Amino acid sequence: MRQLIVRWATTLPLSDPTVVNYKNERLLMHEQFMLRALHISKNALPSCTPNPPVGCVLVRNGEILSEGFTQAIGGNHAEVEAFNAYSGSFDDVTAYITLEPCSFTGRTPACTSMILKSGIKRVEVAMLDPDPRNSGKGIQILIQAGINVRVGLCDSDVAKFLTPYLGKS
Ligand SMILES: [Zn+2]
Repeated sequence: MRQLIVRWATTLPLSDPTVVNYKNERLLMHEQFMLRALHISKNALPSCTPNPPVGCVLVRNGEILSEGFTQAIGGNHAEVEAFNAYSGSFDDVTAYITLEPCSFTGRTPACTSMILKSGIKRVEVAMLDPDPRNSGKGIQILIQAGINVRVGLCDSDVAKFLTPYLGKS
């Protein structure tokens, strides 16, 4: 997984200031928002199971625009909740998502399709979804559409909470 993260990270254009400054204080800001996504994801339990409890936060210029977490089975995934709760422009908006967005149609449509339609240009994902139907495909779809995607932010914190719930849906 670490190797994949490095490979994907190097596909990011260096003109993006949030990437250039990855190693200094801006990382702290990014971490705060991913940890916020992790925090709200805990609200998804227990009704979301067997889907994993995921959190998503939309941010622009250090300000949270909307938040979402996995709804009860058959309901919206975290990404759909957060994106639906925000109606403005997606210019300069970053999505912080604790798990790789789903790229397949299960009980609900694929979250990657919804993300592409929104026009968002930057997505931070904490960890990959080990579900064989996804497992990197969700990330690849976003990158191929020209979205800046980084995987691995706060991955150890997120994995500690999320891993027991993965691969069960
Ligand atoms: Zn989804």
